[in-house]
Amino acid sequence: MSDVRIDDLPVRDELRGKSPYGAPQLDVPVRLNTNENPYPLPEPLVERIAERVREAARGLNRYPDRDAVELRTELARYLTRTTGHELSLAHVWAANGSNEVIQQLLQTFGGPGRTAIGFEPSYSMHGLIARGTGTAWISGPRHDDFTVDVEAAAKAIAEHQPDVVFITTPNNPTGNAVPAETVLALYEAAQAAKPSMVVVDEAYVEFSHGDSLLPLIEGRPNLVVSRTMSKAFGAAGLRLGYLAAHPAVVDAVQLVRLPYHLSAVTQATALAALEHTDTLLKYVDQLKAERDRLVTELRALGYEVTDSDANFVQFGRFDGEGGAHEVWRKILDRGVLVRDNGVPGWLRVTAGTPDENDAFLDAVRELKKELHA
Ligand SMILES: *Cc1c(COP(=O)(O)O)cnc(C)c1O
Repeated sequence: MSDVRIDDLPVRDELRGKSPYGAPQLDVPVRLNTNENPYPLPEPLVERIAERVREAARGLNRYPDRDAVELRTELARYLTRTTGHELSLAHVWAANGSNEVIQQLLQTFGGPGRTAIGFEPSYSMHGLIARGTGTAWISGPRHDDFTVDVEAAAKAIAEHQPDVVFITTPNNPTGNAVPAETVLALYEAAQAAKPSMVVVDEAYVEFSHGDSLLPLIEGRPNLVVSRTMSKAFGAAGLRLGYLAAHPAVVDAVQLVRLPYHLSAVTQATALAALEHTDTLLKYVDQLKAERDRLVTELRALGYEVTDSDANFVQFGRFDGEGGAHEVWRKILDRGVLVRDNGVPGWLRVTAGTPDENDAFLDAVRELKKELHA
């Protein structure tokens, strides 16, 4: 035990009194709180990872390929194949999770004296990474139904002249996708104001009913699309995120990346996973069907549900005493952990396996009965 606390240390002023990011991980049978893919990697892929990592281990006395050429080439091939938009190595950059990609973007285009904006509720890490990089954070507006209020957002951009604009689509924690017209309108607003970088966070796009916005990078050097292998690829433990943008953006982030930031083991593992893309994307189809089932069944039970293009569903509304947190606890009492994101009146549940989703639906069904008893 130590009697010295964080605030007793000479930490930066903007970190004083703050808490680290993190969903509570509780040891319960059904964990549907962090948007992970519930399916472990298939055994043939596990074998392939072991093979490629063994190969990489023979060269661990040397630094890894700091430009991750083979991996970026394969990521570009995956993006080309799934979006129909022709990309090459030069358009793609990879790092340890898309959180690191976002950090590198903020180190490059944000930083002290600069500002970034997001439209909240959205992914809270955007604001936290902004703070960590000394970038001022502005919380922009949304409509009550969680769609982006284009007029108000454009006005906020004109007023604050941010250096970086974040648009998360499909959005976390609400689940809804942002239409291309909205992204284009905000891109125009951001270019008129400053010009600034627009980062489209597509962490969940593989689960979407619609298409990726990646083709929008064509002719728009200030537009960046960020992606991850943490969700659709079922590889949250791998820590591999990437971006697609004009090659100049890829050159720019190399000004701030740490040398050899992506280990040889990470590169080998990600390459093995990309060899099994088709198998992994079949799980995505199952999860999309389960996501749609959760939406339908929750609505049938009388809950309000935000349209979802992600692997999770936002449901409510829990007004009145205790509100959402009280309901979160009651669901937990039934052995199911969902997420209380702090959006007043709403909770978020990640689509799990059919059995896990059944356990969740049983819990909320019982709850409904209890509330009406
Ligand atoms: C989960 C998530 C990420 C992924 O972060 P990683 O660092 O790649 O695991 C990025 N953006 C959003 C909106 C997310 O929800």
